[in-house]
Amino acid sequence: MRFDHIAILDWSAAGRPRRGKDSIWLGLAGPQGVTAENLPTRATAEARLNALVAEALAAGERLLIGADLSFGFPRGFAPALTGAAEALSVWAWLAARLEDGADNANNHRALAALANATFPGEGPFWGNAARAEVPGLPRRKPALPANLSEFRETDHACRAPGVTPSPVWQLAGAGAVGAQNLTGLPVLQRLRTRFGGAVSVWPFEAPDAPVVLAEVYLSMLSAEVRALCHENPAMVTDEAQVRLLAQALMALSRQDALAPLFAPDQPPALLAEEGWTLGAGQQMALRAALPATRTPPRLRNDCFAMPQGVDWVPVDEALDRLRAALHPVTALQTLPTAQAAGRILATDCTARRSNPPRPNAAVDGYGFAHAATGAGPQRLPLVAGRAAAGQPYAGAVPQGAAIRILTGAILPGGVDTVVLEEDTALDGAAVLFDGPVKPGANTRNAGEDVAEGALALPAGHRLRAPDLALLSALGIAEVDVYRPLRVGVLSTGDEIIPSPATPAAPHQIWDANRPMLLALARGWGCEAVDLGHVRDDAARIGKRLSEGAAKADVILTSGGASAGDEDHVSALLRARGTLSSWRIAVKPGRPLALALWEGTPVFGLPGNPVAALVCALVFARPALSLMAGGGWQQAQGFTVPAAFSKNKKPGRREFLRARLNAEGAAEVFKSEGSGRISGLSWATGLVELPDGALEVTPGTPVRFFPYAAFGLV
Ligand code: AMP
Ligand code: MG
Repeated sequence: MRFDHIAILDWSAAGRPRRGKDSIWLGLAGPQGVTAENLPTRATAEARLNALVAEALAAGERLLIGADLSFGFPRGFAPALTGAAEALSVWAWLAARLEDGADNANNHRALAALANATFPGEGPFWGNAARAEVPGLPRRKPALPANLSEFRETDHACRAPGVTPSPVWQLAGAGAVGAQNLTGLPVLQRLRTRFGGAVSVWPFEAPDAPVVLAEVYLSMLSAEVRALCHENPAMVTDEAQVRLLAQALMALSRQDALAPLFAPDQPPALLAEEGWTLGAGQQMALRAALPATRTPPRLRNDCFAMPQGVDWVPVDEALDRLRAALHPVTALQTLPTAQAAGRILATDCTARRSNPPRPNAAVDGYGFAHAATGAGPQRLPLVAGRAAAGQPYAGAVPQGAAIRILTGAILPGGVDTVVLEEDTALDGAAVLFDGPVKPGANTRNAGEDVAEGALALPAGHRLRAPDLALLSALGIAEVDVYRPLRVGVLSTGDEIIPSPATPAAPHQIWDANRPMLLALARGWGCEAVDLGHVRDDAARIGKRLSEGAAKADVILTSGGASAGDEDHVSALLRARGTLSSWRIAVKPGRPLALALWEGTPVFGLPGNPVAALVCALVFARPALSLMAGGGWQQAQGFTVPAAFSKNKKPGRREFLRARLNAEGAAEVFKSEGSGRISGLSWATGLVELPDGALEVTPGTPVRFFPYAAFGLV
């Protein structure tokens, strides 16, 4: 089964012309690609649909129109309303009665009230956002008439974590769809009558006419929709939804893979009465048909350029420049919350439900209505039964009575206060305690922790173990996260032996930087990509950088980054990449080479392990965090007294290997020699001395940054 064009319709029951969010959108996929149109009124939308059908028929092409409407109603509704257990008879009933003006003014509420009159009791339709009362249409949810259920079979099949279809009976309120059905189905009914056998409505009719109408559910692609909106902040959700669903169905059509979607394993009578959502139960096939929704934007080739004539750059300016040059470069993915530890949130997480969802007991004890108690000895007769966590008490507790209640139990009706078990006595039939007890004592309010809809965690937050507890408690089953940033690490130098497992001659040294930088990257939540070691040979370094650019989002090199004869990395980056040597006024650390190699940023760190670590912590760490989606991470230090003396000269910011002594003062490593690798392990952090001159004596306040402040674990 193939179609030449797919049209996806997102409907609106608005009472006035409307554009943008929550208005009518039409997504179109075909040979020309994917487009979307925003239609301000139902009349313009109907005209557009007519034109699309007419064009397809004239061209001898097939068109699938997917409409985000419930084509049918829960079992029992159609026969009660029309005498026939068929959804299409409801379509005819609605089309004969709906009045809808060119300005969107319409009578759908009166129509719902008319349908309600067929049923005993108040419903099934409910909800009225208008000011005027509509006789026969309750504002609040009534009890459903017997034999009518809230949902259709297909609604259950459409459920997914975080995705819950709204009941067809609800006409108003957040996410309500009922009014859309009442105003939309008549339009589709007229399409059928206008074009006769050229249009078939699935699943009521075989999907083999030139034009097929089918019900779709736009929230099926919600993860992909979020990603697309994230990439295009100006795009409204509705537009992203119709575009992506049209695109996914078109892709399946091209692969000739649509047939299974049109073959749900359901009884024909159920399909005829309730309808079926195209793709229900097969959401993954639809999602998988979409290409990656986000190609991360590339960095600009000149992003690291330094203005001419700049000699030494102060550390703060270098950091500002780096921050301005970079942005997140990794793609989004959706993960089950439980598997997302260590990942960075790409979108805000909002509470799906309040925590706690209902008022409940904070202790084991006895619950009662505070109003019936006072000062002095209290005696409240106990009702039979109890309220426990997970075992709510069904009845209400009369004023003046009490109920046994356990921690976490929802407060039964009539209970607003709990007295602690230890403060009570029992006399067999009643609980005794001394008043007064504070109103609401030992209870927790609904939402007192987090209210439904409140921001739980913001985009950019890196998820830690406690965050998984919070998200789970708030019903957030899936999160949008960034794919881990891939950090390639390459060592260079003729003197370097890649592994201490191999013997080294006296003129050779073992590679100390690579294991250090790989472990650092891993600790930062990145995916560390070992690019090995290469000799000081431009051709080999270039080849390895190209391999790295394909495998990693960013590359850290060490060694050969200065401007001397043997500084092959910077020579190569200057010749073939877009090198900018940043002469940063920092000690330890020589110039930091920053370049793009085939579009991938390269941080050329000094070879000296002490300088390599300091530059990695001070410059690479915030930059990598920004690229990974976690925002610029400014290390948080604190001021402590110095336990050392030093006459610091002006000109360069200095970082000293340091640790706190028993008094909480910072002592520094005995040697500032940048070859002293042992000092890195001796230290628990760095002392930062300012750019200007400073005479440090014991007691002078200095800034100490524990290693942990740089995310070093
Ligand atoms: P370079 O930046 O290449 O001039 O190197 C500066 C110093 O760091 C030299 O003494 C190198 O031998 C040393 N060095 C360079 N790379 C490494 C490495 N991967 N491990 C340990 N020391 C290194
Ligand atoms: Mg070297």
